[in-house]
Amino acid sequence: MAEEDVLESIAIRIQKLSSKEKTDDELYAKRLNECKSCEHLISGVCMKCGCYVEFRAAFKKQNCPNAKDRRW
Ligand code: SF4
Repeated sequence: MAEEDVLESIAIRIQKLSSKEKTDDELYAKRLNECKSCEHLISGVCMKCGCYVEFRAAFKKQNCPNAKDRRW
């Protein structure tokens, strides 16, 4: 799957999350900002868990998987 298709698929899946599941916009932006400056982020994927951070960060109950330096 091409990267743009993956990102579109992620956006669609995020839109389908309920408000109970979904991170609010402010927190979502903060999480992604932390990821942007993280050495473990490569091409949108967290090397600690293998997730697309745009998807992982959208879930309220998720957290940064780096136990040694949990950024969110
Ligand atoms: S380790 Fe945490 S901060 Fe770094 S890319 Fe993964 S989720 Fe983001």
